[in-house]
Amino acid sequence: VNLQDVIELDKRDSLAGKKDEFELPPELIYLDGNSLGALPKTAKTRAREVVEQQWGQGLIRSWNDYQWIDMPVQVGEKIARLIGAAIGQTICCDSVSVNLFKLLACALHSQQGRSLILTDSDNFPADLYIAQNLSKFQAARPCQLRTVARQDIEAELDDSVAVLMLTHVNYKSGLMYDMANITALAHQHGILVIWDLSHSTGAVPLALDDWQVDFAVGCGYKYLNGGPGAPAFIFAAHRHHGNMEQPLQGWMGHKSPFSFSPLYESGSGMLQFLSGTPPVLSMSTLDAALDVFADVQIQNLRQKSLALSSLFLELVVADEVFSELQYQSPENPARRGSQLAFSHPHAFAICQALIARHVIVDYRAPDILRIGFAPLYISFQDVWNSVKHLRQVIVAKSYLQEEYSVMNKVT
Ligand SMILES: *Cc1c(COP(=O)(O)O)cnc(C)c1O
Repeated sequence: VNLQDVIELDKRDSLAGKKDEFELPPELIYLDGNSLGALPKTAKTRAREVVEQQWGQGLIRSWNDYQWIDMPVQVGEKIARLIGAAIGQTICCDSVSVNLFKLLACALHSQQGRSLILTDSDNFPADLYIAQNLSKFQAARPCQLRTVARQDIEAELDDSVAVLMLTHVNYKSGLMYDMANITALAHQHGILVIWDLSHSTGAVPLALDDWQVDFAVGCGYKYLNGGPGAPAFIFAAHRHHGNMEQPLQGWMGHKSPFSFSPLYESGSGMLQFLSGTPPVLSMSTLDAALDVFADVQIQNLRQKSLALSSLFLELVVADEVFSELQYQSPENPARRGSQLAFSHPHAFAICQALIARHVIVDYRAPDILRIGFAPLYISFQDVWNSVKHLRQVIVAKSYLQEEYSVMNKVT
């Protein structure tokens, strides 16, 4: 591969124009959209409108005038298209962690006589934390968490398991489960499955209805570009709606919040997953950010994402300079998400040295250099240039400079 080929790839890229829909500093190569998505221009405009007009001028009237009250449903339905869910099964609210808590309790509630939650030890730590502590709050329905190695998950599926909780694309390695297959296997044993789609939504094709998925959660600020701390979402299949009870009953989930009845009666369908008031500012930016996807086919996104990561990998594998980096993601592109992971004893410092060169990647403890390929705003030339920078950092060992080993609170 030479630079000419790479320029050609950009010319033939049907998504190339999408980059203009984002505000990105011109000198920056942003390979961290899997951690915090870039700012869509629509989201910036919306933020200003919501603050200045809707809040500043409209004040409380805007709950009705700008349908703030319906935003969880409206935003949920925009996400539904990206995850292959028919209408009425997706709602936007809270964080992934909180939503996972609701879903775990809800799924356990409907699994009479079973109490085991099964997950893999590579799962995102926050997901493990939520499940670890759940039993303390489940006096009426005790539960236990069983954490096994990833390769043992299938063998552990039996009739004693109540809920299987997995993350579709692993946050570090980018390893992707075969969601359709695992869900079907679990169902053979009467197990309900909760998928965390944080690293998949907006990057890989999902078909939750076709794959008979029971429940899912996902993140609004990664590939969906909703902005820092944007709310997350919940999916629950229609067939479960008659038998759901989530523990964080709040007034927004009440069937008639403004009747101020002292007794809780849950709203219908997905509404019952709402707890408190929606965060209107950040839900608005997520709402606007989702419009960037309106004319995008997820298959095209996926194709480009794999072409970007494959190019990066090809350039790294072809060059001996990179032999000190250990490749940690799947060789088979069909089994990886939209990111690549390499381990290196100085992964953190390499990451900092790259950031100093305006190439933003990230580090995951203890030794992973993680490179994300958000296909809406990364070009093939970005990939080419980022590998050049990485090469220079490694050849010159500039990562050994003292300033690159200073760790901040957020890594
Ligand atoms: C980013 C991410 C989360 C985020 O959880 P929050 O509670 O929204 O902060 C959860 N799970 C996974 C797998 C993630 O990648």
